Amino acid sequence: MAARWVEELGRTPPGAELFGRLEAVDPRSCTGAELVDLVEAHARQVAYQQSRLLAAVRELGHSTAATTERLDRVDAYADTELAFALTITDYAAGVLLSAATAAVDTLPALHQALAAGRVDLAKVSMLCSELSEVEPDTARAIVDTLDPELDRCTGNQLRERVRELILAVDPQAVKERAKKTAEQRFVEHTEYANGTSALCGMYLAKERASAAWEHIDAIAKATKAGGDPLGRDIAQIRADVFADLLSGIDPTAAGAATPTPGKGAIYLHINTTTLACLDEHPASIEGFGPVIADIARQTVAQLAEHAQWRFVVEDDNGQAVAEGRLKYRPTLGQTRFVNARDVTCRAPGCRRPARACDRDHVRDYAHGGQTTITNLCCLCRRHHRAKHAGRFRIRRRARGGIDWVTPRGATYTVLPEHGPAPHRSFHGIACQAAGLRLPPRLRR
Ligand SMILES: [Zn+2]
Repeated sequence: MAARWVEELGRTPPGAELFGRLEAVDPRSCTGAELVDLVEAHARQVAYQQSRLLAAVRELGHSTAATTERLDRVDAYADTELAFALTITDYAAGVLLSAATAAVDTLPALHQALAAGRVDLAKVSMLCSELSEVEPDTARAIVDTLDPELDRCTGNQLRERVRELILAVDPQAVKERAKKTAEQRFVEHTEYANGTSALCGMYLAKERASAAWEHIDAIAKATKAGGDPLGRDIAQIRADVFADLLSGIDPTAAGAATPTPGKGAIYLHINTTTLACLDEHPASIEGFGPVIADIARQTVAQLAEHAQWRFVVEDDNGQAVAEGRLKYRPTLGQTRFVNARDVTCRAPGCRRPARACDRDHVRDYAHGGQTTITNLCCLCRRHHRAKHAGRFRIRRRARGGIDWVTPRGATYTVLPEHGPAPHRSFHGIACQAAGLRLPPRLRR
């Protein structure tokens, strides 16, 4: 049972009072359960200080040296001033200054969420950057839609959500931005002090990068399956194949096997109406996130000849209700159904795709749990081990959500994965912009 001071920490909003309470606690004298609450309280307090930092940075950006008057724009050299003061690069200073100006002036709800400790500076900075090209009113509506998810999504989950929402609201702007960004594509070669190097292709078209990755991956997997004579793991083989291909060396001559064609898979989620060009709802490619309708249709066209087609039917809440294979005998196996329903590992914050996960019995088979779709859920190997060896417990909630109880007694709820149905969010934003009543917010 947690001590009373821990409950008080949980109830105290961040600020001077919480600071005082936290100063009085020696973490070395805490139990594991108390430490979970203590760490959470410290993180909320840090976020509060970060909101104060942004407020000060915003003022600095609009200030002049000798007066308290403010400019009506950001001073052109404020980032250099900030870089010198904080011993950070001009680039990092620019990012901080942009986040401060956007959060304070344009997205006050996000700034307030930071002050309340519901989100941290890294997430605020990412959201401000993602929303930087969006009209202010639309950006505010998107932040309102995201608000319930701020304190339960990781940065990567939030990035994916905000991109879905931007795509739904302003697909043309996203298309133009993608085109402009693609014009800046380049290859970067970096030497490291540890004697290794990095070689990265930046701002490539998603479908080309995806095809290149699938090609490297297929050769690497074929090599691994044939028993690699050099005893390399899959990541090392991929790296060698990558370097060989780009150096003009045939990887098969360098010890890699030739893949069987057609083994790679791209998982594309698209509305049938979008596929038929009846609307422009965004689609998504698993592992890459949301894509505009055009790119999705191009990908479909490129895959039409050789890909194996599967379908997933979703209900109005975006929950998968059936899955099967087109053209061939339908397989409504439990594994595929559960994969389609869960989309990713069902641990809080984990984005590991369902197909790379284990199918775990929520109620253990050894304790009478049955092998039914309601008792199965996707867990990646790490979280599967955490459940069985790490004494984490899970239980299914009504309507598909899952509660996790940690060994230290903390409880986290993972809501059902909705998959890509951003047009419903679009409806929400459109209503909000028109001052109409909002439909229930999308959650995941
Ligand atoms: Zn996981």
